[in-house]
Amino acid sequence: MVLDQFRLDDQVAVVTGGARGIGFAIATALAEAGACVVIADLEVAGEQSAHQLRERGLQAEFRPLDVTRSAQADALAKSLVEHYGHVEILVNNAGICRNTPALETSDEEWLQIFDVNVHGVFWCSRAFGRVMAQQGRGSIINIASMSGIIVNKPQPQAAYNASKAAVAHLTRSLAAEWASAGVRVNAISPGYIGTEMTKRGLENPQWRKDWLELTPLGRLGEPSEVANCALFLASPASSYLTGSELVVDGGYTVW
Ligand code: NAD
Repeated sequence: MVLDQFRLDDQVAVVTGGARGIGFAIATALAEAGACVVIADLEVAGEQSAHQLRERGLQAEFRPLDVTRSAQADALAKSLVEHYGHVEILVNNAGICRNTPALETSDEEWLQIFDVNVHGVFWCSRAFGRVMAQQGRGSIINIASMSGIIVNKPQPQAAYNASKAAVAHLTRSLAAEWASAGVRVNAISPGYIGTEMTKRGLENPQWRKDWLELTPLGRLGEPSEVANCALFLASPASSYLTGSELVVDGGYTVW
């Protein structure tokens, strides 16, 4: 049955930044497909998010993680292998964005954005990629952005744009290195999705108008619309995809 290929029963999935927004939608979709989901986030709110899933009879737990700390990523991978014996899915979703013109971007801000968006993706991929290579199976999904493909109007965000372009190419690099070990690595590049990250921008009437006018589908995306793609990439339904980038942007990048 074709739909059986989307099931993730008996699999362990880690979602970084899974406490809210796109990450929580992905955690929900993977748990609904049968996976035991580990929400790994800075926020204490992650415990509530995991509790929300458990109340629905789904399998979920919260583990604190700052993705910028490689030792924490290594320790989490070790602890989950000790506890579950295996980890099949990693979603590198944690990310931050700042709308600062390039000439006003401080060293600290540039480094902070790269620390979370690029270094964090690599530290977690390395920690769990090692586990997956030993198992001979695994799927890593990196949440990049359409901002890694085009320079979106109207907000300046050079550091964010560059960091997401790096994530897309890191995805292809790891996919090439780890394919023979049975580990697939793919990216999702969302357009404008309604979350905390875009809330402030939506309050700016000009930005809101531009975002909607420049998106052929004429609306923001829902976190669940990104989560559906993550479920596809996590599951055997996408078994012949690696190094790919699914652009989930309502058509923004076609114009
Ligand atoms: P959000 O701000 O709502 O949620 C981000 C989550 O990441 C939060 O739970 C936060 O606590 C966590 N986080 C931040 N820094 C962390 C760290 N150092 N360690 C662990 N967790 C950390 O954002 P969102 O809109 O849900 O975005 C999720 C991902 O999607 C990000 O990578 C973002 O760049 C990407 N994205 C979002 C949009 C959009 O329009 N919302 C568009 C393209 C790409």
